[in-house]
Amino acid sequence: MTSRICVELGPRSYDVHLGTFAPEETAAAIADAFDRETTGLAVLVDGGLGALSPRVAPLVEALRRRLPRVERLDLPAGEASKTLSEIGRTVEWLAAQGFDRKAAVVGLGGGATTDHAGFAASIYLRGVDFATVPTTLLAMVDASVGGKTGVDLEAGKNLVGTFHQPRVVVADLAFLDTLPARERRAGLAEVVKCGFIADPELLAACERAPEDVAGKLGSDWIHGLVAGAVRVKADVVASDERESGRRAILNFGHTLGHALEAESRYALLHGEAVALGMMSALRIGAAMGVGSPGLVERGRAVLTRLGLPTDEARRIDDAVLARVKVDKKRRGAAIRFVLCPAVGQTQMVDLTPADIAAHLRQAGPKA
Ligand code: NAD
Repeated sequence: MTSRICVELGPRSYDVHLGTFAPEETAAAIADAFDRETTGLAVLVDGGLGALSPRVAPLVEALRRRLPRVERLDLPAGEASKTLSEIGRTVEWLAAQGFDRKAAVVGLGGGATTDHAGFAASIYLRGVDFATVPTTLLAMVDASVGGKTGVDLEAGKNLVGTFHQPRVVVADLAFLDTLPARERRAGLAEVVKCGFIADPELLAACERAPEDVAGKLGSDWIHGLVAGAVRVKADVVASDERESGRRAILNFGHTLGHALEAESRYALLHGEAVALGMMSALRIGAAMGVGSPGLVERGRAVLTRLGLPTDEARRIDDAVLARVKVDKKRRGAAIRFVLCPAVGQTQMVDLTPADIAAHLRQAGPKA
């Protein structure tokens, strides 16, 4: 089964190809998406992936058969690639290879790699084309689609970045074969998020998860989930590319999620932190009369079924709330907070960390 989902952005529209693809098919989709006059291709690969996945080398070879001057650079694995010094290394390498304005970049890896590749592509020679081949579930359903790129500073995650849309995204589900079960489950948190904010059917599909969820990712079930989440993201991004309004709904579960993730010193995976953040948002909503205890229990049940943590009540302390104060989405003392009044709906409220603490206290140790 394959799907093609278009992110409608006028002249910058692009397709997300989803399915299980032979290397030639992925290479063809990438070559077709670039300008016919492309002069070279830089393939930036997650440094952990080359040794783990048998799919990397054949894909690079297939790209060599389709495009001129294909060069590969292995980045540090995962988040370690998302620093300004690593970006400096990549753009120096692009220049040393002699890549010109008609060259293009492909990011092959998880969300850290696609963020790195997009950022490097957006600044090299003031911007060259790029494509993403996400290899984690989280990158397939979220990071690789939508055009946000970014790197981390000492002061916090994703504090430097650009908007730079890819020309194409090829999500080959076969890459998930080597992904550890914990990373797979973390990716599912973003699917649950899309269900809560915009798609009741998608949430229901998550609720029908097989018991051995981490072992079933090759099935039509996971294809449906990824397609559903990509459709939600594509629709939201098409209506608000640069987050001047509606795109902020994608931050559901992320305000407290980011704070928990950072406070755990990244012992929590992003998706695990988002699961906890969604639970808090549902409980705050119930305490404010925006949402209901029933919705909280629905959230708890589906996240538990997917093997994700839900025990945020015991984790949110003063240190976590202090981190909320430096959230990128703050407006003065208040933070734009996304609530879910009912499945498929969102409501934005401005809350201070003190408000958040008070509502969570009111919600009790458990809803
Ligand atoms: P990641 O990119 O750090 O990858 C996690 C780990 O999985 C790494 O160790 C990597 O080497 C390994 N890996 C990658 N693919 C694999 C595979 N197929 N098999 C085995 N191992 C594999 O993590 P992630 O969860 O994919 O992405 C998280 C990043 O994405 C964060 O930096 C986050 O800020 C970013 N993000 C960006 C956006 C956006 O819109 N730009 C959205 C969400 C998240």
